[in-house]
Amino acid sequence: TDISRIRNFSIIAHIDHGKSTLADRLIQATGGLTAREMSEQVLDNMEIEKERGITIKAQTVRLDYRAQDGLDYVLNLMDTPGHVDFAYEVSRSLAACEGALLVVDAAQGVEAQTLANVYQSIEHDHEIVPVINKIDLPSAEPERVKAQIEEVIGLDASNAVLASAKSGIGIGDVLEAIVTRIPAPKGDATAPLKAMLVDSWYDAYLGVVILVRIIDGVLKKGMQIKFMAGDSVHLTDRVGAFRPKIEQRGELGPGEIGFITAQIKEVAQARVGDTITDAKRPANAALPGFKEVQPVVFCGLFPTDAADFEKLRESIYKLKLNDASFSFEMETSAALGFGFRCGFLGLLHLEIIQERLSREYDLDLITTAPSVVYEVHLNNGEMLELHNPADMPDPVAIDHIKEPWIEAVIFVPDEYLGSVLKLCQDRRGIQKNLTYVGGRAQLTYELPLNEVVFDFYDRLKSISRGYASFDYHQIGHREGDLVKMTVLVNSELVDALSMIVHRDAAEARGRHMCERMKDLIPRHLFKIPIQAAIGGRVIARETIAALRKDVTAKCYGGDISRKRKLLDKQKEGKKRMRQYGSVEIPQEAFIAALRMG
Ligand code: GDP
Ligand code: MG
Repeated sequence: TDISRIRNFSIIAHIDHGKSTLADRLIQATGGLTAREMSEQVLDNMEIEKERGITIKAQTVRLDYRAQDGLDYVLNLMDTPGHVDFAYEVSRSLAACEGALLVVDAAQGVEAQTLANVYQSIEHDHEIVPVINKIDLPSAEPERVKAQIEEVIGLDASNAVLASAKSGIGIGDVLEAIVTRIPAPKGDATAPLKAMLVDSWYDAYLGVVILVRIIDGVLKKGMQIKFMAGDSVHLTDRVGAFRPKIEQRGELGPGEIGFITAQIKEVAQARVGDTITDAKRPANAALPGFKEVQPVVFCGLFPTDAADFEKLRESIYKLKLNDASFSFEMETSAALGFGFRCGFLGLLHLEIIQERLSREYDLDLITTAPSVVYEVHLNNGEMLELHNPADMPDPVAIDHIKEPWIEAVIFVPDEYLGSVLKLCQDRRGIQKNLTYVGGRAQLTYELPLNEVVFDFYDRLKSISRGYASFDYHQIGHREGDLVKMTVLVNSELVDALSMIVHRDAAEARGRHMCERMKDLIPRHLFKIPIQAAIGGRVIARETIAALRKDVTAKCYGGDISRKRKLLDKQKEGKKRMRQYGSVEIPQEAFIAALRMG
């Protein structure tokens, strides 16, 4: 392919602004698919993605387009993941392109995620084409949104394309803008092969599929290729492109985006950001920016039914085949039995894995409270990375603890600003900036990640009736007054409920936890104390009174059906009880206690 006729671009947008719909339209308009095949959104091909309306894995489609200048062009449309948890994957996808369509909803305007992604795109020196979408809506205000793009992002929006992906308005203009405004890639076909590994995923038929962007040289079928960071050599057995159906090709040249397979068994061997070169004639330097992604949020996953442990193990291994960023190791808990300690890129990633395990693999799971990675600095000068409260060393050996912080950008309509400020303040936030953009506040806060993993996002959405948008990036570790809080039931430690908290928040959390456990644990024939403690010091306590023989009569009067229901429930519950010393704690108690965050 003539390099001057290639255009590589991605689409950046806030969730729901119409990225997938526009992508589908572009595919349809260039003949990639028939109308019937378009009934399903093409790029969002995972069930969960579709339901949540988010894109998790980047996908690329190669389109043929005859422009108004009469020449034939190859357009590579790259879909990027739409969530902060996958920021590094977004960054690699953007690095594979020369330009981006910035899709902004004509009624909603610029949102927090739009900003985060557009800044990344600007960092990659992209030519950015603003597309104001959903102009068919009665509430559309394209002129206001144009002004907002200029004001907030500082991007010239005078020649923004007005479109409706849904009704098919402006699609031709979008295609022309891609050809005329986004520059062609540059590259040297005679140089040694240098290709970026943009993405990899596991396919049941093809094995590991690798998405590549060729920078220099030519990648051919049958070539021995070398992964420079992974330091491994593989034989390329397929080379091709998605149109969006698979099309095999003999080779890919400079500027092209396509896929290869090379009999690789696990995605962990084909890491995003690695440089692929010719094993026989290697490039002398790898592409810049390779980064090994590290999980930032950890939690324990346990089967509700201990008999499901083997099934959980198998399912987790299968998921790992397709997700190199997810980590796990076995964990045992006195409260919850055998399970796994798992690491995730963020909370959404955690939810996705959890959901896939319960949905695709039909597993009923308990998730322990999510924990971030703490740096524990010991008196002897050593530093230990802690991602499980259970591994916390003896406090006398600790000099200080550092926790990860983030910088968050929040967009929120004026009327909810007060509640959002309070939420951030309650979560130990430090306000950095507050500006107004057309009736909405743009807030910048520094927050401890620890405070964000506990239901921050849900709270933000509920206090703003869903109108606030949120985006964040990590800004490093800072010292904090952090302690391990433990929960004791009848003087026995319940390991699954231990958590690391800021000293100032410990008492409130402890009290809350004790109150919840008091409601959740059934009465026994003796009194049961429930305590929250830091080290040996009790900070909160509740007591469950002893059971009196006539309890069912007392509680439920003469209503026999309710009484029977209660007894049935107890019988059923019996199977799911965990013995704690002499106390039986229903499994539901852990689940409920852990859910509250
Ligand atoms: P994404 O999250 O950015 O990929 O957004 P989607 O493409 O999934 O679109 C989100 C919602 O907006 C869907 O319900 C679409 O049908 C709708 N939508 C997309 N484009 C338009 C448009 O131009 N006009 C209208 N009215 N709705 C649209
Ligand atoms: Mg989408």
